[in-house]
Amino acid sequence: MVDYKKIGLVNTRKMFAKAVDGGYAIPAFNFNNMEQMQAIIMAAVETKSPVIMQVSRGARDYANQTLLRYMAEGAVEYAKELGCKHPEIVLHLDHGDSFETCKSCIDMGFSSVMIDGSSLPYDENVAMTKKVVEYAHQFDVTVEGELGVLAGVEDEVSSAESHYTKPEEVIDFVTKTGVDSLAISIGTSHGAYKFTPEQCTIDPETGRLVPPPLAFDVLEAIEKKLPGFPIVLHGSSSVPQEHVETINTNGGALKAAVGIPEEQLRKASKSAVCKINIDSDSRLAMTAAVRKHLAENPSHFDPRQYLKPARESMKQMYIHKIKNVLGSDNKLIEQ
Ligand SMILES: [Zn+2]
Repeated sequence: MVDYKKIGLVNTRKMFAKAVDGGYAIPAFNFNNMEQMQAIIMAAVETKSPVIMQVSRGARDYANQTLLRYMAEGAVEYAKELGCKHPEIVLHLDHGDSFETCKSCIDMGFSSVMIDGSSLPYDENVAMTKKVVEYAHQFDVTVEGELGVLAGVEDEVSSAESHYTKPEEVIDFVTKTGVDSLAISIGTSHGAYKFTPEQCTIDPETGRLVPPPLAFDVLEAIEKKLPGFPIVLHGSSSVPQEHVETINTNGGALKAAVGIPEEQLRKASKSAVCKINIDSDSRLAMTAAVRKHLAENPSHFDPRQYLKPARESMKQMYIHKIKNVLGSDNKLIEQ
């Protein structure tokens, strides 16, 4: 049993309370490798932002859960070395699919877990989530549950159709399970292809696809039922078109990739939404930089030559999200 507090991590409780009060959201960035982890920490330190580093099932398969946990421990020390005296870093399990997965992460030093029973019948979701909460809270680990189904594909989490969260269920779910935060479905979705061209309209000026707006009426109804309760948005990448274009002009073949417009996320951040998950944008930032570098430097073969600009590109993207979209800069409890 590893105590996450002893390795310098924090849970989400205080940072979420502060974010709900302050009208901003904490960034939750997925990580799979060292360059992503470095970029996340550099961005968080530079902007004095709390940050959630999250690990999906795909990341555990790719990089190994134990290794990622030690990287998070390293991340705390790295943040201090970069000049942040009191870093607020959460190591979070993204889309835990069973009690056993959540337990193994808690035992290993994760400070927060998500249990995703959203595809189960309601009563089974309640029962599984409650079991995880009872275990996690013994160790002061915070738990995120989910109600409603997001469309799209994210590391083996996939669904063809989305179902908005039903506001009439949220009080019962939160009371029965004891979760610390709740992921809801209001029209965000996983992956880089969040909407089909048919679901979008076309901006006459740029010719780009404009996705349908998020269901802010559902969010408002949920906030009314649960005033001040921390709400989470998954699948909230914006799929920056400059990265898509860089990828496509340097040998890539991304089709009509489209994400959530940043002004919608900015609006959500000011509400009870206090955690926003961003994964695809980091993949796009990395791939665009790697493709561009290799196209311009065909003789390069040292991974450091192309991973360095890739890391820088991710770092700039993270800084942009923190400062210009979520508003979590300068929000550390102890600066
Ligand atoms: Zn997700």
